[in-house]
Amino acid sequence: MRGILSAVLAVAIAVAVAWWVAGLTGTVDATIAGYTIETTTPVAVLGVVVIGILLVLVLKLFGFVVTLPLRIGAWRAGRRRRAGEAASTRALVAIAAGDAGAARSEAARARRLLGDTAQTLLHAAEAARLAGREDEAAALFKLLAARKDAAFLGLRGLFRQAMAKEDWTEASRLAHEAEAVRPGAAWLRAERAQLAVRTGNWTQALASAGPGLDAAAFAVAALDQETDAARAMRMARRAWKDNPDFSPAAVAYARRLQAAGREAKALDVLRTTWKTAPHPDLATQALAPVTNPELRLKEGMRLVQSNPTHPESHFLLARLAMDAGLPEEARAHAARAQAAGMNQQRLWVLLADLEAGQHGDTEASRIAQSDALRRATLADADPGWRCEACGTPHPAWLPACPVCHAAGRITWGVAPRPRVIALSSE
Ligand SMILES: [Zn+2]
Repeated sequence: MRGILSAVLAVAIAVAVAWWVAGLTGTVDATIAGYTIETTTPVAVLGVVVIGILLVLVLKLFGFVVTLPLRIGAWRAGRRRRAGEAASTRALVAIAAGDAGAARSEAARARRLLGDTAQTLLHAAEAARLAGREDEAAALFKLLAARKDAAFLGLRGLFRQAMAKEDWTEASRLAHEAEAVRPGAAWLRAERAQLAVRTGNWTQALASAGPGLDAAAFAVAALDQETDAARAMRMARRAWKDNPDFSPAAVAYARRLQAAGREAKALDVLRTTWKTAPHPDLATQALAPVTNPELRLKEGMRLVQSNPTHPESHFLLARLAMDAGLPEEARAHAARAQAAGMNQQRLWVLLADLEAGQHGDTEASRIAQSDALRRATLADADPGWRCEACGTPHPAWLPACPVCHAAGRITWGVAPRPRVIALSSE
């Protein structure tokens, strides 16, 4: 609507101007190079307008001719860029699809068409890695690392290669460089944590870890590497306070306290953890300074006071009572452990040991022992330390699995039973 109104207005103005020009009176005389032109004013105005329009057209034509080579160049460059970008996209798709041959040829084509940009270099390097050409990839990552705008990409690629080669010194150097280029990058934090795990640098691993079980594991492992006793004590206290149910943290703190002569406080820490998460390692640590079997039983009773009805408590007292030469008390605790739900191999082995120690080599005792051992074979498996990531059992707790290198995944528990395929007897 507005367009129509504007057009009508323009036509009206043009007609009005033409009308006004046509109505002008008088004549115009002009003398150019000896020629005299004499005409009426409206014709002269018309002549000036026509000459003006012609002049504009000539100038436009001249501009078009002069800029033609430039525009042809720009058109060609545009075509080249579009072809390069298409090759770059195809390279990316081939990398994602794991097609090493296509990825390399498309990446090379993109590089030829677009030159060495951060993108073409990165695609070429990733394609080379995919094709197993690590040296070629390293050379390309080095080119990237030398660029100001993409140094992080190059260092990241070189770092990954060093990690894959297990070249920890080089990986560590590259991580420092990458940190300087892009401080606090989330990816780098995770990778540095992984590097620290692989090199056993638990202080670094702790600094790089987020909150969670791996942080607790790193904290416990890091305090063992701390040479300053007072600092190690503070770290142990922090690790236990942050994870009071984590037995390795309680054991580490108690061990430090015992070493400092603070046995009562150590027992306090172990009892606190026993209250919510009873664990054989807590008992081992609590009883470490005591050698007399009767005193060990007394100390064990003090430990389990915080959680006296737990099967782990009864099992510990049964074992300690047996060692102290109190078989009836041991049997009573074993029965209570069983009543509280424990049906593990270690309980039946303990009962067999009790029988052997109490009644010696009589025929009835031998029958009772073999019965207990038979029941041990049918009982639940004993709990143990096991990597949740790869399933490998470990004799003791470790901050990271030496088999699969997963951090903070070694937990206490019973291995899942292997699936038994029932065979029909018919
Ligand atoms: Zn593992």
